[in-house]
Amino acid sequence: MIWLDFGLFVFLSGLFFYVFAFSHLRTLHKVYLIFHSFMMLWPLSQFALKTTDRPEFQSFYASVSILSISFQSAAWLIFTFLLTGQSYLITRMRILFIIAPALIIAALVLGPMQSVTQPFVNPSARLMYSPILWLLSLQLLVVCAFSISLMYRVLRAGASPRHRKLIVMALKGLVLLVLFILSDFLVNVAWDNGLPDVPGITSVGLAIAGSYFVFAIQRQGVFDIVQVAQHNVIQSMSAGVMVLDEYNVVVESNKMLKGYHAARIGDKFDMAAFLKRVEVKPGESFEFLRKYGKRKPGQIQLEFKLKEDNQVRYIQMNVSPVVTSRKTMIGRVVTFQDISEIRSLVEQKHRQNETLQIRNRELIIIQDELYRANQMLEQLAITDSLTGCYNRRFLMQQLEHEMLTNARYKVPFAIFLFDIDWFKSINDTFGHLMGDEVIKGTAAAVRNCLRRSDLLARYGGEEFTVYLPHTASEQAVKLAEKVKAAVERNYFASSSDGSPVRITISMGVLTVDPDRMMNIQEPKAYLQELFAQADAALYEAKRSGRNCIVSRKHA
Ligand code: GH3
Ligand code: MG
Ligand code: MG
Repeated sequence: MIWLDFGLFVFLSGLFFYVFAFSHLRTLHKVYLIFHSFMMLWPLSQFALKTTDRPEFQSFYASVSILSISFQSAAWLIFTFLLTGQSYLITRMRILFIIAPALIIAALVLGPMQSVTQPFVNPSARLMYSPILWLLSLQLLVVCAFSISLMYRVLRAGASPRHRKLIVMALKGLVLLVLFILSDFLVNVAWDNGLPDVPGITSVGLAIAGSYFVFAIQRQGVFDIVQVAQHNVIQSMSAGVMVLDEYNVVVESNKMLKGYHAARIGDKFDMAAFLKRVEVKPGESFEFLRKYGKRKPGQIQLEFKLKEDNQVRYIQMNVSPVVTSRKTMIGRVVTFQDISEIRSLVEQKHRQNETLQIRNRELIIIQDELYRANQMLEQLAITDSLTGCYNRRFLMQQLEHEMLTNARYKVPFAIFLFDIDWFKSINDTFGHLMGDEVIKGTAAAVRNCLRRSDLLARYGGEEFTVYLPHTASEQAVKLAEKVKAAVERNYFASSSDGSPVRITISMGVLTVDPDRMMNIQEPKAYLQELFAQADAALYEAKRSGRNCIVSRKHA
């Protein structure tokens, strides 16, 4: 029967090498192999125990058996954290806490409690009454309960079917192992006297459980890849990343976080204290903390300034909740992004925009001024500077167009040509300046009796012309009389004694009837002809004694 334990040891070694040879060794596998080595230690030590009669050796092997169980349970717990995907919960402090019971038992077994397994007469009976047994039982109980609760929590939180299957498998292995250890204890320790010694019960349990576990971790591969990928993604991010659990303990962080906050895994993160060390716009910090305090899922953001060694950096902090499928928040992801460069670019753009806007406004003003200057120039080009009437060039230009439309639509029109009588004597008597005043005043008097559509232009010297569109001959003659009367009524105070100076005009009126209009080929020549006839009428008015109107119909 002594070969049973050895055989089972060989079987477990086989499994060990299978895992070692056929898996890409990730943390999960490494931890499992440590756990597995402790499993192997039991059948080996049990086998060794039976191969010797020397009490000190037997005592040593018995101690190793006990230790293999104790260390196994510690390694199991770490393995459970990894298997359930909660590796972030493993901190150095926690590992120390987990293996502490095994270390205490080791110290007791190899130190003051050596007598428990020595001399080897009936080690089981001695063990029964030793505190080591109770300590070991307590450790097993706590580890079992804790790992079962860990697995149960993951199963309840809604793990993927694949993950669920492998956890259930590991759970089955664990329950079987516990049952075997318990029966070994009952048969060979507790009721040792009443029952025959049955060897290898725990070893068989270990072999079966080991098979379950190996099968489980081989299936876990995919899950592990996702975890490694997540870790790699977080590490390769340009932003500082920190994952907090529900108690604000840092459970994951990346290399970039160092640039913003010196938190390490396992530290507690205090947001309020952190905000006191950075520069936040007044009022924003309070509002942010109020939102942060609410345990309601929702993303929040805050911008702040970080001053280090005379260097100011602008940081954007983003806090997103980690939410389960049942909408409960189990932690937060805090990211820090340096936005100094983007900010300065935006500011630069703003400044450029402002300058552009100022230039634009200046351009609009200049354009406006140019437009007005142009308008003034245009006005100057078409007006007579002394009287403010149109000049002869502009009138002729306008009339060229007018003639064509009048001819096409058969519109009647009239032309006045008048000249101040005896003007030379005004100049001679009162001087040239007075002569200018008379020319100006006469133009103003004439303008007052014309309609808006009539065009008054200075023809030359003290000679004026009026174009009257849409005007038949009777109407034209009436208007001519009105103009002549207005000039007669008008008077100027003489510069020498202030006595009123009056003038008269002689006028030639030319009217054009629509039925006499022909198609105009050369508007310029046609105009010349019209003005020659108007001039002839004026000449006739002068000849017949001045201060009169001679009216002609266009022949
Ligand atoms: P008539 O009745 O035959 O027209 O006699 P008149 O003296 O008016 O003769 P005419 O029309 O030929 O004379 C024009 C004069 O008007 C000649 C010129 O000295 C004067 N004159 C022409 N332009 C101006 C001007 O801009 N200002 C002044 N003060 N005199 C001008
Ligand atoms: Mg004259
Ligand atoms: Mg004249």
